[in-house]
Amino acid sequence: MPSKLKPTQLGFLVAAIAYCVGVFFLDISTPSTYNESLLLVLAFALIYPVRRTWATILIFACTIIAAIMTAFFEPGADSDAGTWVNIWILIVAECGIAFMTWRVTTVENALYQLSTTDPLTGAYNRRHFMVLMDRERKISERYGTGLSLLLLDIDHFKKINDTYGHPTGDEAIKAIAETCHRQVRSTDTFCRYGGEEFVVALPNTDEAGAAIAAEYLRKAVSKIELIADGNRTVQFTVSIGVASFVRKSTIEQLIECADQALYAAKLGGRNQVQIGRYDSIDSALSTKKAEA
Ligand code: GH3
Ligand code: MG
Ligand code: MG
Repeated sequence: MPSKLKPTQLGFLVAAIAYCVGVFFLDISTPSTYNESLLLVLAFALIYPVRRTWATILIFACTIIAAIMTAFFEPGADSDAGTWVNIWILIVAECGIAFMTWRVTTVENALYQLSTTDPLTGAYNRRHFMVLMDRERKISERYGTGLSLLLLDIDHFKKINDTYGHPTGDEAIKAIAETCHRQVRSTDTFCRYGGEEFVVALPNTDEAGAAIAAEYLRKAVSKIELIADGNRTVQFTVSIGVASFVRKSTIEQLIECADQALYAAKLGGRNQVQIGRYDSIDSALSTKKAEA
C-alpha cells in the first residue's frame, strides 16, 4: 500500500488526471489521431514524481494498448506498412523508457539501502540513526513525550573472535541484531552503532520503561546459542547503558549519557543494565569544554 502522498505529489497526480481527462475530451471532439501519444508522455511526466512504479506500469500498459489499437482498429492498418513501422517505434521507445525508469528506481532504492543500513545485519547505520533521532528529539521536545536510548555492547567480544574466529563473531553480531529486531516495538529504532555496539531508541518511553526494555534485551541475548566448529556452543552477553531525554538536551548528550552508563555497566562486572544520569554528563561535558 503506497504511503500517504505529500501535497506536491498530490498536486502532480491531480494535474495528471485533469490533463488526461482534458486530452480525452479533445480527442473525441477533434479528428486528430495524435492526442493519445500526447496523453501518454505528459501523464508519465506528471505521475513519475509521485510514484515511479505507477509511471512504469502506465507506460507498459499504454504501449500494449496503443499497439493493439493501432494494429486492429486504425483504418487501413493491415494495408499500410508505415503504420506497422510506427507501432514498432512506439513499442521500442516506450519499452526503453519503461526499462530506464525501472533501472533508475532500482539503483535509487539500492543506493538508499546502502546509505542507510549496515550490510552485515541490515539494521540502520549510525548516520541514518542520527537523522531519525533528530526527528524523534523534536517530537519529544514539542509534545513532552519521553524518549529513551539503550546502548548495547557485547561483552568480551574480542575473546569470541580470538577463540572461535571472525566468522563466528559476525554470526554473534547478526544473532544479536535479529534478537533486538524481534524484541523491540515497531515504533522503536534499532541501529548498529559501531563494530559490536548497538543502539535502540524508544520513543514515548521514560527511564523506568527503558530500564525494563533493556533488562528484557539483556536476558534475551544471554539465551542466544551459536554453534561453532560443528559442535561448540557459543554464548555471550551484553552490557547496556540507558539514558532518557531531558528537555533542551541534544542527541549527542543523550548518547554520551548512555555511553557513561554503559561504561559503568562494564566496570560493574558486565552483563548488566545501568542508568545514566544527566548531572554527571553535564559535568563531564563542561570538563571537556574547559579542556578544549
Ligand atoms: P568489552 O567487554 O570491554 O566491551 O570488551 P570487548 O572485547 O567486547 O571490546 P573491544 O573494544 O576490546 O573489542 C571489540 C572487538 O570487536 C574488536 C573488533 O575486532 C571486533 N569487531 C568489531 N566489528 C566487528 C565485526 O563486524 N565482526 C567481527 N567479527 N568483529 C568485530
Ligand atoms: Mg565496544
Ligand atoms: Mg565489547
